[in-house]
Amino acid sequence: MDFLVLSPPVCPPSEPPSGAFMLASALRGHGFDAAMLDLSLAFYSRHFDTTPQPGPVNAALDYLKNAKEGYDPERHRNCAGILHNDLKRFETICANWKLTAMDIAPPVPVHHPSALAQQLIRSDPFADLWARSLQPVLEQRRPGRVVISLAYLSQLAATLSLVRFLEHAGIQPIVGGSLPRSLHATGSGLQALARVLPHLDLSNGSTLIAAAEQPDFLHRLHWPELLCDRDYLSAQPVVPLALSTGCYWKKCRFCPDRSMPFHAVPDTAVDEFLRSIPEPIRNAVPMIHLLDSAIPPSSLRAFCPIARQHGVRFYGFARPENAFLNDRMLRDAADSGCRMLQFGVESGSGELLNRFDKGIDPARSQKILAAAAMEGIRTYVYMLFGLPGETATDRAATLALLRDNTPFVDFLNLSIFNLPVTSDIDEQAAAMHMDISGYTADEDAICLYRPFRVNGTDHRRTARDFIHNELLMEPAIRRIHRQTPRWFRAAHLSMMNLPGRR
Ligand code: SF4
Repeated sequence: MDFLVLSPPVCPPSEPPSGAFMLASALRGHGFDAAMLDLSLAFYSRHFDTTPQPGPVNAALDYLKNAKEGYDPERHRNCAGILHNDLKRFETICANWKLTAMDIAPPVPVHHPSALAQQLIRSDPFADLWARSLQPVLEQRRPGRVVISLAYLSQLAATLSLVRFLEHAGIQPIVGGSLPRSLHATGSGLQALARVLPHLDLSNGSTLIAAAEQPDFLHRLHWPELLCDRDYLSAQPVVPLALSTGCYWKKCRFCPDRSMPFHAVPDTAVDEFLRSIPEPIRNAVPMIHLLDSAIPPSSLRAFCPIARQHGVRFYGFARPENAFLNDRMLRDAADSGCRMLQFGVESGSGELLNRFDKGIDPARSQKILAAAAMEGIRTYVYMLFGLPGETATDRAATLALLRDNTPFVDFLNLSIFNLPVTSDIDEQAAAMHMDISGYTADEDAICLYRPFRVNGTDHRRTARDFIHNELLMEPAIRRIHRQTPRWFRAAHLSMMNLPGRR
């Protein structure tokens, strides 16, 4: 084998981790013998295998894996709750490490890589996982290169442990992924990370192949070999795929993706990838998770006939733009298998959105939500609170937008603005009455965001208080918020049975 791509714990066990999957797919697309081993799935499976009261846990696992008719929201909540409770056992099994379905919290601050490395010497919850799930693969497949995909902070502890294990075995892995790339682009502390992970690769993986082929690295994809023999917790197989890389809009202020080059993936490459999906997965009607920062309308238009031809379902993130109101686009998408769109509506205040060059018009967003819902497409609405300069009037407009459109909003993602450590805000901070002086870099810590105040107040706290004390006091909004599960979010939402949705 040329490449073994490893995804360390923990990532949600409901779908293949997108970064590792895309990397392995791209390596296969470029003709290498490449496979992905999802060690996070193995980690969760091992935990549930040892449950002392297997009855309810096994029934919950069975439901989440096999509800072919789609999920009932109430039953889904119960099953996720049963698993969540069972995961609490982990804290007693492994001295003070806390595990949920999407995160693991060590007993030391996770932002301090050196402290984390020391903690792993005292107690390492992953050590026997490598011996059981990875060692046999290394012995049988003898990979030429081992690549570790570190996408989330929740994977950092396991990554440190995994690197130590591999080095003891005489293997020098390459560590890359979106966490070190984000630290490099808009955060701080890459040096602190590099002290414990000296072999970091800050590319998107393209440096693993010949330089001449690098520009289209993620545009030649083929189904990779998946080495974990456990099933994901999903009623339909979820398959990550991007129709584009970078962001076609590229204008929103302070967005880290603005500096990334935009490329649309050729239709032929998308078709080729779908063609490479193995038959058992095809027969189970895969749910394609479109990974685009924002699906370009032209790409969606081109994807619809391809999706129809391959009989897949899909969901992804979209900007509420005029294109969605034209040319029967939403109907065509729904007829082609679109089961959910995650719309970045962000705010009810057009003036605030304009100040940040968002290119989003709240009145248009409302029309698009209604049109999508009428076509039976689930809507998962992303709202962003606490943008610098957001006033009580802006927040009231946001509340009114949601309250007036509850029949068309199925799920809610209520976010609070985070200020990246590095951004182009510094020269505009004074004009926005922002105080950004409260941040001092800690050279032993990694950090993606920094605190700020606006007009002397903690803007994030104001936003949080508004969400809890006012927004969620609206019964209709609270109902949608409650309908949005805390665990197994996006993929499972696209499979949730709701009246009027396909
Ligand atoms: S649409 Fe999203 S990814 Fe694109 S620039 Fe705006 S915030 Fe960034």
